[in-house]
Amino acid sequence: MTAGSRIRQLDASTVSRIAAGEVVERPASVVKELAENAIDAGATAIDIRITSRLGQITGITITDDGCGMNHDDARMAFTRHATSKIRDLPDLFSCTTLGFRGEALASIAAVSRVTIVTREKGGETVSGTLIVNEGGRMVEDRETGCPDGTSVSVEKIFFNTPARRKFQRSLPAEIALISGIVERLVLTHPGIAFRLTHNGREKIAVPGSGGLMDAIIHLFGLEIAGQLLHVDTGTPGAGIRGAISVPDLSRKNPYQMYLSVNSRPVFSRNLLAAIRKAYGTLLPQDRYPVVFLDLAIPVTEVDINVHPTKREVRFGSEEQILATVTDQLRAVLESHRLIPEKDASRAAGHREPSDGSVPLRYISSGPVPDGVKEPLLRERITTERQLRLTETGPATSGEGKIPDLEIIGQFGALYLICRTPDDDLLLIDQHAAHERILYDQIGKWPSFQDYAQELIEPVILTLSPREAEMLIPAIPTLEEEGFVIEPFGIHTWAVRTVPVALGRQIDPETVREVIAELIAPGFPKGVDPAEQFRRIFACRGALKAGTQMSPDQCEQLILQLRRTKNPFTCPHGRPTMVFFPKKKLDELFGRT
Ligand code: ADP
Ligand code: MG
Repeated sequence: MTAGSRIRQLDASTVSRIAAGEVVERPASVVKELAENAIDAGATAIDIRITSRLGQITGITITDDGCGMNHDDARMAFTRHATSKIRDLPDLFSCTTLGFRGEALASIAAVSRVTIVTREKGGETVSGTLIVNEGGRMVEDRETGCPDGTSVSVEKIFFNTPARRKFQRSLPAEIALISGIVERLVLTHPGIAFRLTHNGREKIAVPGSGGLMDAIIHLFGLEIAGQLLHVDTGTPGAGIRGAISVPDLSRKNPYQMYLSVNSRPVFSRNLLAAIRKAYGTLLPQDRYPVVFLDLAIPVTEVDINVHPTKREVRFGSEEQILATVTDQLRAVLESHRLIPEKDASRAAGHREPSDGSVPLRYISSGPVPDGVKEPLLRERITTERQLRLTETGPATSGEGKIPDLEIIGQFGALYLICRTPDDDLLLIDQHAAHERILYDQIGKWPSFQDYAQELIEPVILTLSPREAEMLIPAIPTLEEEGFVIEPFGIHTWAVRTVPVALGRQIDPETVREVIAELIAPGFPKGVDPAEQFRRIFACRGALKAGTQMSPDQCEQLILQLRRTKNPFTCPHGRPTMVFFPKKKLDELFGRT
């Protein structure tokens, strides 16, 4: 080892105590490891080039302008457990680099052909080094002219592990995964310029000139950035920095909750829950905010050595840190006065204006409206349109299953209170009921396409690179189902038609959500896509909870429900109505 070498092999006892294991199970993990190395090398610009042929990734090249390596280090870098980042176990507790196991390059080289071209910044020699390692064997080692920094190229990925190659996901899925990894690195290192290309096409390009907000705008667009609250708070034990969404911007799943600890992207269920908790009832129970947060925790309090992929971390005083996160974020939300004041508007005698999309939370906590009230004009029109969509259903075997009903009132802008001819009480959930109606109707349509309608104005979606990667392969299927979606600009897509079931003046957020649901990998298994479409449309197109309905609209809804084949449950199997025989009420009041 020459005087200038930095990389050393960890001793056996240290090796035995770090959570080791396979880190390169797929091409995306190669990208992650190499990009992390570039960050650790102090790069200010990182260029990631992916090439593919016939649906397989054929090459990954990552070039950085970091510290580079001298000849000896470059050779050493391929040795297992050789690292420049820690010397021994105690170092691990002050480690601020992303890597520390000295395993990645060795593992990658073991299953592919790796070429490193590198030159040490301020190094003693003029020329740089080129080393090729294939399947763990050094096959080339020579001087070369090259700029400062490092370029690592990986080819023949998994050439000697056919099983792993076979189990690769589809190319679009892999590219989506890679985009997701790069997105996370961009968000945790907004000062670094990143570029990701696939077969020369640019997927991500951020100049790395600004702060987090700049990175967010580049990746997700102004639309989202405009709905974020700046966060810079916390305690000495847990600094919290980044941005969180106002409650109006939320998602059905937590995949846009970007979390990091000391700039290391992490996954922590508990942390997700603590953040979600800060929103409390500002969000409906099944919604998640969009957040980009980094926790600054004293390195001595964080255990990064939990899992080989380093995504999981443990905190020393976890409970306290989680409580801090919840409290501080709640304070941020409160200071922006997003928590509605205690029913001031209702006390003054008027209702929250509603276009049917106002979440239940704003309405349900107030005094019970008695009887059926006249809705606002705008709300009335929306409801009318939704009901018209389903009004032409011919009578089916369901007719006669529901008795004649007299509507007493609407409760909580959600439940219809009805009296049966036998003087029993029946409650109907308007959303579940309309969902059932819509679902039955959609089932009768030959295909959605026949019912696609052009939007009055196309809805423009801004998608993150990862979302876009998931969208592209789904476009033909979506088109069959009535969505015509076209590229519109950088990161943006224009939705020109939607299935009739979604209505004509749909808001972008809804279109976005429907598409997100359709392309999400989490589709229930065994449900065929057409069926899945039906369920989603039924749910989306149906009258919302929180919609004030006029008496004749209530009548209409019940009329339509009566015509369905199975009026008693919604497509998810939840009841559309609950029956209280008068006898049961009498019993409850001890009148028997
Ligand atoms: P680790 O990152 O855990 O140390 P790796 O196998 O990923 O292990 O890398 C081994 C060593 O090679 C690193 O410790 C570092 O010294 C060197 N190295 C790897 N990539 C680069 C790079 N892009 N620039 C400079 N040095 C690098
Ligand atoms: Mg590494």
